[in-house]
Amino acid sequence: EVEVAIKVVVVGNGAVGKSSMIQRYCKGIFTRDYKKTIGVDFLERQIELEGEDVRLMLWDTAGQEEFDAITKAYYRGAQACVLAFSTVDRESFEAIELWKQKVEDEVGEIAMVIVQNKIDLIDDALVHTYAYLNLSSLSVFRYLAEKYLER
Ligand code: GDP
Ligand code: MG
Repeated sequence: EVEVAIKVVVVGNGAVGKSSMIQRYCKGIFTRDYKKTIGVDFLERQIELEGEDVRLMLWDTAGQEEFDAITKAYYRGAQACVLAFSTVDRESFEAIELWKQKVEDEVGEIAMVIVQNKIDLIDDALVHTYAYLNLSSLSVFRYLAEKYLER
C-alpha cells in the first residue's frame, strides 16, 4: 500500500538527456495514453524508503522545452524537481538558473537537485563537474525522494 506519492518534474534544455534518464529508471511502465490527452508523459516507479512505499511519478516534457511552451499542468502539484544539463552543452548549464526560476514561479520552493548528464562524455566537456553527476539515475531519484521526505 502506497502512502507517499511524489510528483517529480524533470526540466532542462532540449537534448540534455531528460527522457533518457527517466526511461532508464522506469522502463516498463510507460503511460503513452497520457501523452495524447495533455501533451506530457509521466512514468512511475515505486521504491522503498525507510520502510515506506513511495511512488515516484516522473514527469517528462514532450520536447516542447525549446519553445518555452510547457504548460502549467506540467508543473502543477510538483513536489520535487530535477534540473538537468549536459556535460557537452554549455548553454544548457547556463540555463539551469532560468529553469529553477520557472519552476519556482509555478510551484514555489520544492526539493530540487541539479543533475549533470552525459557524464560519459566528460573528455569532451564544455562544463566541468559542478553538480550531482548522473552516473546512475537510480540514485538521483532516490536522493530526491529522501530530500523531499526530510522536509
Ligand atoms: P531530452 O531532450 O532532454 O529528453 O534528451 P533525450 O533523453 O531525448 O536525449 C537526447 C540525446 O542524448 C539522445 O540522442 C540520447 O541518446 C543522448 N543521451 C542521453 N543521455 C545520454 C548520456 O548519458 N550519454 C550520452 N553520450 N548520450 C546521452
Ligand atoms: Mg525528452
